[in-house]
Amino acid sequence: MKKHITRSCGHSREYNIIKKGAERYLRSTPCPVCSRADELKQAAGFERLNSLPLLHGSEKQIQWATLIRCRIINEFNIMAKKIQPHQRRTPKAVAFFALADRARRCTSAAAWIDRAEFRVNAETINAILSKGQPA
Ligand SMILES: [Zn+2]
Repeated sequence: MKKHITRSCGHSREYNIIKKGAERYLRSTPCPVCSRADELKQAAGFERLNSLPLLHGSEKQIQWATLIRCRIINEFNIMAKKIQPHQRRTPKAVAFFALADRARRCTSAAAWIDRAEFRVNAETINAILSKGQPA
């Protein structure tokens, strides 16, 4: 059933409602354009807070890479917090912090996009550190 729906951001258009509950979901959430703008605004705040350098690439690449980089750097931050002060000088921790630092300094939007599926977790970090290779 086609229905004209106003999203939570105030934008409206006609939607083809098939699933039950879809209309309520659409009314309670922003449209994709506003949703992306919100994400980019939050990402800009995260970048400032983390003193991340400007990315290089096309405007479209930079927008996409910004969101990927924020997610990955946030995951590095979460993992870094789990390392206790007395563990910070172990070779593994030193290698981890060097890797996180290299990630922070990466300004290539294309390089971030290439890592869109990368997840910072014990498994991926151990795999990188055991190879001694760049992520
Ligand atoms: Zn909108």
